[in-house]
Amino acid sequence: MIQLDFHPAGRHFLQIPGPSPVPDRILRAMSYPTIDHRGPEFGALGRKVLGDIKQIFKTRHPVIIYPASGTGAWEAALSNTLSPGDAVLMFETGHFATLWKKMAEALGLKPEFIGLPGVEGWRRGVQADMIGARLTADTGRAIKAVCVVHNETSTGVTSDIAAVRRAIDAAGHPALLLVDTISGLGSADYRHDEWGVDVTVSGSQKGLMLPPGISFNALSPKAIEASRQARLPRAFWGWAEIIEANQNGYWPYTPNTNLLYGLSEALDMILAEGLDNVFARHQRLAEACRRAVCAWGLQIQCADPAVYSPVLTGVMMPEGVDADGVRKLIYERFNMSLGQALGKIRGTMFRIGHLGDCNELTLMATLAGCEMGLKLSGVAVAGSGVVAAMDYLAAQPQAPALRAAA
Ligand code: PLP
Repeated sequence: MIQLDFHPAGRHFLQIPGPSPVPDRILRAMSYPTIDHRGPEFGALGRKVLGDIKQIFKTRHPVIIYPASGTGAWEAALSNTLSPGDAVLMFETGHFATLWKKMAEALGLKPEFIGLPGVEGWRRGVQADMIGARLTADTGRAIKAVCVVHNETSTGVTSDIAAVRRAIDAAGHPALLLVDTISGLGSADYRHDEWGVDVTVSGSQKGLMLPPGISFNALSPKAIEASRQARLPRAFWGWAEIIEANQNGYWPYTPNTNLLYGLSEALDMILAEGLDNVFARHQRLAEACRRAVCAWGLQIQCADPAVYSPVLTGVMMPEGVDADGVRKLIYERFNMSLGQALGKIRGTMFRIGHLGDCNELTLMATLAGCEMGLKLSGVAVAGSGVVAAMDYLAAQPQAPALRAAA
């Protein structure tokens, strides 16, 4: 039998790049009694979350909330906008871009997967100029959508979506722009309307600090128009019925009521802190984490400082060191979970999540666990990452969200 009631002293450090730790305040909100999903109180809850979530995506247009993981929202984005055999241009940034491409194939689309050679593409973001060149060459306008991952969770690279939009416009190409920010939303700056994104896909278990189980499609008027012509089969994922029911705060099926209580609380927390403060906090913690990695003398998976992720940092191991062995030791000795390397870079690095409900001391404890684990694993670190991160954080101006002592 699996032992699910294993609770050593203190909190488990869940420092994977999602699911991220769920704050007590959200857990408490989720414990309210489940109510009638067709009753008046539910309508008020539905209208509140459907309205407030728009502020997080920075959109004036409808945001669909699915009772599903992010993978479901990926499928919804494709199946609502495209038809069997449609060509889609996808960019290889890492494991999640690869999985989305596989899904496109499974749905009967014709994805063209472009990227930098070898693992180079897994160390740098989307190359907007490559997308622009491919679209310019597509004189017959066969490509119906461009699909990119904003924050590639498998590598710690946050791509420049505005640059992708500019490349599409410069090519004068009508393709839709579909973006996955499953792990970016609520942690990294994101602007659905301003960047001209047609469908943004996201999930609950990362920057929104919720458990897994809710995912999103933020839409543009062009995407809604495309959905009227698109012929891929869809039933549960269909936007039209959901948008209709959402007008009054309801869903065409049974939504996950208690996760929506949690979402309401999460939105209150994020909007009270202020989105810009939330982004600045993530940037500060990410910079401190990178300074630690550099002080250890190790390489960061993201090789381009312009696209460092504020959500997670990939720490590459020296030649011959099994990153999964280091993670295992840290888990067993220090009760902390770190993200494993996925796909074609498996075993070469581990990922430190610093997203969501994370502050200076959460990060410091995390880095201390990593530093002890690296040393115990026999990795010859050049210096103390913990000291480097402390020095950086102590020199930062006080975060505006912190209250002064009485
Ligand atoms: N896309 C990205 C960037 C992700 O990080 C994840 C999950 O971590 C997914 C897609 C898949 O989402 P889910 O596991 O919620 O289905």
